[in-house]
Amino acid sequence: MSHILVVEDESAIAELISINLRHAGFEVTIAGTAEQAQAAVNGELPDLIILDWMLPGQSGVALAKRWRGEARTRELPVIMLTARADEADKITGLDAGADDYLTKPFSTNELMARIRALLRRKAPEALDAAVEIGALKIDPSTRRVTRGDAEVKVGATEFRLLHFFMTHPERVHSRAQLLDRVWGDHVFIEERTVDVHVKRLREALSQVQCATMIETVRGAGYRLTQQPVAQALSA
Ligand code: CA
Repeated sequence: MSHILVVEDESAIAELISINLRHAGFEVTIAGTAEQAQAAVNGELPDLIILDWMLPGQSGVALAKRWRGEARTRELPVIMLTARADEADKITGLDAGADDYLTKPFSTNELMARIRALLRRKAPEALDAAVEIGALKIDPSTRRVTRGDAEVKVGATEFRLLHFFMTHPERVHSRAQLLDRVWGDHVFIEERTVDVHVKRLREALSQVQCATMIETVRGAGYRLTQQPVAQALSA
């Protein structure tokens, strides 16, 4: 389940947002101050942050700047909320590192649409939408992997691994990146654990002749590709 951190000191707004998010299937954490928000981020990284500009003490803009300056949080998707509609403030927010910007009062439908658009762009694995690459389909909402009518049985870790590969196809991912994005950033696991699970995933995919979609890129990591070299040559 995808996790969204809502940083907002006005409890009525925080509640309204979190009710809508939970209804849409997200897990929600609320932080009322910059310090609480930083503590939450120091724990488990959320998939996306909704950040209010005006907070007691440190501002949302200062928080966004700090997160953009640190390697661990640099890629965090951030939507900034504010009561200010001035163009200059909007630019300050975007300069601070917010990916998107919404002015209060906003409609919750618009906020949800912005969240989905940002996740599609920056963290597609956090969305529940089914993904198809070639003949292979993965559906997080039903937790099924299929090729046509045939279902592939995969373990929980292999499912997350395949989902990450399928939402980021044709790109090479190092073992360290895969550990970060699939296992979470606060686990201590050896990199060869990735190899073990990739091997299991290939074994599962061989049931539907898709094992070669997961390529080993020597010295770099792994890549999911729609058109394996071997198949392209024999076709
Ligand atoms: Ca506020």
